[in-house]
Amino acid sequence: MRVPFGRREVAGLTWQAGDSGGVGPDELREIVEVGDALAPLSADWCALVEFAASYYQRSVGEIALAVLPPELRRLGRDALADRIRRLHRAFAAAPTDAVAGDSEPALTPDQATAVAAIGAAIGSAVPGTTLLHGVTGSGKTEVYLRAAAHALAAGRQALVLVPEINLTPQLIERFTRRFAGRRIVALHSGLTPAQRLRSWLAAQLGLADLVLGTRLAVFAPLPRLGLVVVDEEHDASYKQQEGARYSARDLAVWRGRREGVAVVLGSATPSLETWQRAETGRYLRQALPERIGGAAWPAIRLVDMARLPKATVGLRASARTPALAPQIVVALHERIARGEQSLVFLNRRGYAPVLQCGECGWLSGCPHCSAWRVFHKQDRTLRCHHCGLAEAVPRACPDCGNPDIAPVGRGTERLEEQLAALLPEARIARIDADSTRRKGALEATLGAVHAGEVDILVGTQMVAKGHDFRRIGLVAAVNPDSSLFSSDFRAPERLFALLMQAAGRAGRDAASGTASEMWLQTWHPTHPLYQALARHDYAAFATSQLNERRSAGLPPFSHLAVLRADAKTVEAARAFLAAAAAVARTLAESAEVMIYAPVPLDVARVADVERMQMLVESASRQRLQAMLRAWLPHLDALHLARGDAPRRVLRWAIDVDPLTI
Ligand code: ADP
Ligand code: ZN
Ligand code: ZN
Repeated sequence: MRVPFGRREVAGLTWQAGDSGGVGPDELREIVEVGDALAPLSADWCALVEFAASYYQRSVGEIALAVLPPELRRLGRDALADRIRRLHRAFAAAPTDAVAGDSEPALTPDQATAVAAIGAAIGSAVPGTTLLHGVTGSGKTEVYLRAAAHALAAGRQALVLVPEINLTPQLIERFTRRFAGRRIVALHSGLTPAQRLRSWLAAQLGLADLVLGTRLAVFAPLPRLGLVVVDEEHDASYKQQEGARYSARDLAVWRGRREGVAVVLGSATPSLETWQRAETGRYLRQALPERIGGAAWPAIRLVDMARLPKATVGLRASARTPALAPQIVVALHERIARGEQSLVFLNRRGYAPVLQCGECGWLSGCPHCSAWRVFHKQDRTLRCHHCGLAEAVPRACPDCGNPDIAPVGRGTERLEEQLAALLPEARIARIDADSTRRKGALEATLGAVHAGEVDILVGTQMVAKGHDFRRIGLVAAVNPDSSLFSSDFRAPERLFALLMQAAGRAGRDAASGTASEMWLQTWHPTHPLYQALARHDYAAFATSQLNERRSAGLPPFSHLAVLRADAKTVEAARAFLAAAAAVARTLAESAEVMIYAPVPLDVARVADVERMQMLVESASRQRLQAMLRAWLPHLDALHLARGDAPRRVLRWAIDVDPLTI
């Protein structure tokens, strides 16, 4: 509805009717327009929004307005009514089960078991959540397709969530091909406002049978919902990282429970939270241990960096040290000779992470951030990847005038250049945030890879995700160790997932006949993570990680939230967090909640803003929730307190179940 608000007129949402709260009738103003073109949102939808608001410590309005299509508030009643009429006409054609150009393969026994179990869940009163655990190429997508067909055949709607739309074109394409006669809509932030409204309305009106979308689609109102699939459930993209910091995966599970809808979480490397729930029987588990067509898992080859002659190779590469160990270069030559493709990845973009002056030791730091500015050779700029500051590379050292400033270390741009020198015959392409910035660039490069016009694909972890390459015989990780000893306790979990996913790119084409391989350059070849990877033994990795988490009292054995504070000075941020901690300790609800000391973020200063955080932890989710709820009003008061310089924070936020610490 539209209401007067001061001198403006705004569109709002009526959540529930209440009394006037003591405001007299003459002080009340008239509603301008009641938005009754659309039926009231369902109780299920309101419950989901209320739960998300309460759990993630935001207001209902903040969540609701963030997840509703903005057009809904912009359009007047008549315009909206018109859109709805047109949509009904567009969807008037009866859905058919016609399958255009796509035939269903006969299921493998493992797939059949999984489909039967999920099918039974869809028809049951308490369907529960199923973990579908299977490596890349094991046939998970086929299981989703069959499960969705089950739901549709029962007259229900299916919701399929993917981490990122443009990294999962094949999955989208397979769904649209399989359900060609059905009514499918996409729902993600890449749509135009008009498209987003259309998809949302089609879902809400029950016209669409199948909704494919990213995390925000978990809030799609679906009156006939029968199945929710969360593909790559471990992916960090499901967690919204700003504003209302919700986890779409966790909300999907909550929604499934409330609405009596089957939920399928699919992954080769489930999050440890999900794995633990499967271990303890809270989730059902279906495993697809074999790759379709019997494609073998790539042989994992660890190159022990300590055993290479010093001059041959170095992770802290100087200009002369090659990027790859000689045996990997030989292996790459062989793949090219056989007409196979290889994938080489390094988690750092740009040419070199820093420039250094050989005379005085000047380094290309960012004046606004506690970070280096990265050297990009292509356009000869120094770029800060945190605040975006970009400047031409200075001709000489800004401090001493020495013209001899040199790149230190290696990013993907330099890796590409070094590979070209090592393998002159190779056709090399690169995929990272820089090479794909131009619209259509990613699609063009992927097209070239699929067409066999590329021998070696170089890139950041972007290359490891999602793409269904056919001819990759070799995968090499240049410097995976960098995230092995991170201060973030989830870093090993992310690394393992990334490496498994990258390994899954290799040898998808069983017909090629040659065995695929994955090379890792490491200083720690005996590390349990690499050893588990070599056996492609996710369960062993998960068990060892869970044991560590249990003894350290970390999730999933405890529950976390962080309070973040941004301020112009470290003192102000620290003072705010210290005051917040002092308040927390006085709250009765904080019994059994640990409050840690404030610490700076990994990159403490970004764009001249100091960023600090404080962890709160409890073995009990309820305790933590109660404490946060009691704490919140005090934080507002602290923030608003005037005259107290140290408390002047720019902003603060609570992140419940934070993914990065
Ligand atoms: P995942 O989603 O686990 O990566 P997919 O469902 O994409 O696995 O399956 C991998 C490949 O095998 C795909 O090309 C798919 O079309 C094919 N495939 C899946 N299930 C079967 C089956 N039962 N019979 C034959 N081919 C299948
Ligand atoms: Zn200098
Ligand atoms: Zn910066």
